[in-house]
Amino acid sequence: MANTIYDYIQAGSFTCDCGKTHSSTLKELIVEKGALNRIPQLVKEYGGHKVFVLSDMNTRAAAGAAVCDLLQKSGIPFSCYTFHQEHLEPDELAVGAAVMHFDPTCDLILGVGSGVINDIGKILANLTGKTYMIAATAPSMDGYASATSSMARSGLKVSLNSCCPAVIIGDLDVLCAAPVKMLQSGLGDMVAKYVSICEWRIANLLIGEEYCPTIAQMVRDAVHKCVTNADGLMRREPEAVAAVMEGLVITGIAMSYAGMSRPASGMEHYFSHIWDMRGLAFGTAVDTHGIQCGIGTLMGIRTYEQIRKLTPNKEKALAYVNAFDAEAWNDTLRQFLGGGAEAMIQNERKEGKYDKAKHAARLDLIIEKWEDILQIIDQEIPALDFVLNALIAVDAPTLPSEIGIRDEEVRGAFLTAKDIRDKYVGTRLLWDLGCLEEVADQLFGK
Ligand SMILES: [Zn+2]
Ligand SMILES: [Zn+2]
Repeated sequence: MANTIYDYIQAGSFTCDCGKTHSSTLKELIVEKGALNRIPQLVKEYGGHKVFVLSDMNTRAAAGAAVCDLLQKSGIPFSCYTFHQEHLEPDELAVGAAVMHFDPTCDLILGVGSGVINDIGKILANLTGKTYMIAATAPSMDGYASATSSMARSGLKVSLNSCCPAVIIGDLDVLCAAPVKMLQSGLGDMVAKYVSICEWRIANLLIGEEYCPTIAQMVRDAVHKCVTNADGLMRREPEAVAAVMEGLVITGIAMSYAGMSRPASGMEHYFSHIWDMRGLAFGTAVDTHGIQCGIGTLMGIRTYEQIRKLTPNKEKALAYVNAFDAEAWNDTLRQFLGGGAEAMIQNERKEGKYDKAKHAARLDLIIEKWEDILQIIDQEIPALDFVLNALIAVDAPTLPSEIGIRDEEVRGAFLTAKDIRDKYVGTRLLWDLGCLEEVADQLFGK
């Protein structure tokens, strides 16, 4: 199997050395200057007769108007809907508006935008069963090629099944002109993968979660390319911008291949989710997904630096877990996260990560495999400065305080990240070792 992203996309699916057949429904990725010009031809190739163009005010100015122009000149009929909100939220209102403005005589939906437009466009395409394409306006997050949409539903952050686009169009003239914050976000979402891959391997070792070395290597290569091009990103060099755009799409494909989000998100993403949940519940500060993930990645790297220094102590860990009060902890979750905490508490009832017998068995394995865990950390987690310098190179915020996240929200995110999903992450390892609060004190003060 050749290993450029374009080879993988062309293959559609392949039988991997790990024994599984991996597949993605993304048919085509085009990242080049002037790529928008190819849209009329693509519409025809994919059987479209009439196009529904979905954009917001900003993305219409960035590319949506040009796309409509191109369609018109090519004689392809279209309808369009432009969201007029200043800050478009991916919620019921937005999906409702998209559905109510949808023209059912269209047989192809073309999103023009990045995260939010793509999330809404994928839901609309899934509901209507129409072919979906996205013309990307910014390399800002890794959801382009994923078949899920990150939404706010009833005031809670949820990931809904939607659909993967058939074609992703990344016109470098458009992407290079994206707001700097979007470029910073894209890099932030990419560096997160250092932590994600490390935790995937640890989960494979301790929980037996399926791990694929080929997928992990795809993601590592993509991250490496982005980080080594970070300087060029600030200068908006097409190669650097293309590296981030392709990297973000590769990680989306990697998630499809793996059938889960493991290759692309871990603890660092949970810190970001928690700040988003608090934003929805309490109106506290939030920033873009990628900017939060970049900051979360630095927190994640610092966490693994502390884990490296630990020596497991069985008596201490057993005593810690014995004294753990699950009901009291549920109240802490409710207070800190609001309504979103209930789903997490329900998940724990099914999962039983706090079950004392299960913990004791896990602890034995952790102690037995400790050297292997340290080796994984050494192999996967780069030096803090390496990632810090890449983020600084694009002027991205590197401290939670720079985006308005308060100290107690940093510590709170660290302590509650283990409850967000059923994934084994670094802070779960710390809980298993009876060291969670101790490491929180070391990292963030008491
Ligand atoms: Zn595989
Ligand atoms: Zn992400």
